[in-house]
Amino acid sequence: MEPRKVYLDNSATTPVAGEVLQAMTPYFSAMHGNPNSLHQWGREARRAVDEARENVASLIGASNPSEIIFTGNGSAADNLAVKGTAWADKKGRKHVITSSVEHHAVSDTFKWLGKNGYDVTFLPVDESGMVHPETLKDALRDDTLLVSVMYANNEVGTINPIEELGAICRERGVIFHTDAVQAAGHIPIDVSKLPVDMMTMSAHKMYGPKGVGALYIRRGIKLVPLIHGGGQEYGVSSGTENTAGIVGFGAAALLAGRLHEEGESARVSRLRDKMLSGIVERIPDSFVTGHRIQRLPFHGSVCVRRIEGEGMLLRMDYAGIGVSSGSACTSGSLEPSHVLLAMGLDHATAHGSVRLTLGRYTTEEDIDYVLEKFPPIVELLRKMSPYKGG
Ligand SMILES: *Cc1c(COP(=O)(O)O)cnc(C)c1O
Repeated sequence: MEPRKVYLDNSATTPVAGEVLQAMTPYFSAMHGNPNSLHQWGREARRAVDEARENVASLIGASNPSEIIFTGNGSAADNLAVKGTAWADKKGRKHVITSSVEHHAVSDTFKWLGKNGYDVTFLPVDESGMVHPETLKDALRDDTLLVSVMYANNEVGTINPIEELGAICRERGVIFHTDAVQAAGHIPIDVSKLPVDMMTMSAHKMYGPKGVGALYIRRGIKLVPLIHGGGQEYGVSSGTENTAGIVGFGAAALLAGRLHEEGESARVSRLRDKMLSGIVERIPDSFVTGHRIQRLPFHGSVCVRRIEGEGMLLRMDYAGIGVSSGSACTSGSLEPSHVLLAMGLDHATAHGSVRLTLGRYTTEEDIDYVLEKFPPIVELLRKMSPYKGG
């Protein structure tokens, strides 16, 4: 019998859904035209890009498809939003605000602005990783130009009060961006009702392909492009469009709407809750990180005291279970996750973090398997290396 394989790292990336792959495939060969060409091959590709733009716009309630800009990935959209807004400012404002738990695509961009003439405020979070509206109110200044706070956190799944945060910014005439890469396609988002000026998405976190992102830019917001060239994507993101990838993004957006109607998030959050309560029941000295309720439906994260996340990850992998320790991007380094530290966890505890993120293809049997395998792995690791503290 094949050993069971359980992929629980959907926050790092999701598989391309079958229906998405099917929609994309013709655009690699039969419909290979450059969407900027005027002949029939070009027009065919242009029509497909336009349709995908409509599907992504409608997923998030954008009133006009031209408010969706396709980019090379989510990181590119974050960079465009942050640097593009900073550079477009005509009033000489030099203060920018973000949170202390952002993805590196946002936080490192702000740090870079900080080294290049901007004054950066990193907002604190509570023990669940949430940004509180009062801290934003207190941080705003007359020369504040931009605020960027993520919709939902990739490491601990906590959903921020985006509506309140955006409303505070709007009242003060400050541009508000949110990185919704983890949230889009997974929880309902309606920018027609939200005071959000810009919002980042990425196809590969919602059953679309890697290498295509999108930035929602509300009408009237001006950005300086990071990439100059042929003037594609309304002049803000030059380069021949990734037609197949964009078509895949559009198909993923359609699929997300359908899954939502089918009650997929209730199914997956029930499995997630079963997994989390099973873990804390069966593993002594373990606890859930992140918010219990204001949380992405598919997202689970725990800390196991007195062992290293990496050790657990490797043994879980050996048992056929794919998880991550904290964030995939930070797991190469010895520093524990900046997110967990900002939430007030000490270094030693933060080192014991494991993220288990479910998805559309996760089954009840998968979760039973994890609950069978995970506790003995922890027991073994604790026996092997008695914790010395520190
Ligand atoms: C994955 C991720 C990104 C980066 O998206 P890419 O398409 O991989 O560049 C940005 N922000 C968050 C919150 C993410 O989870």
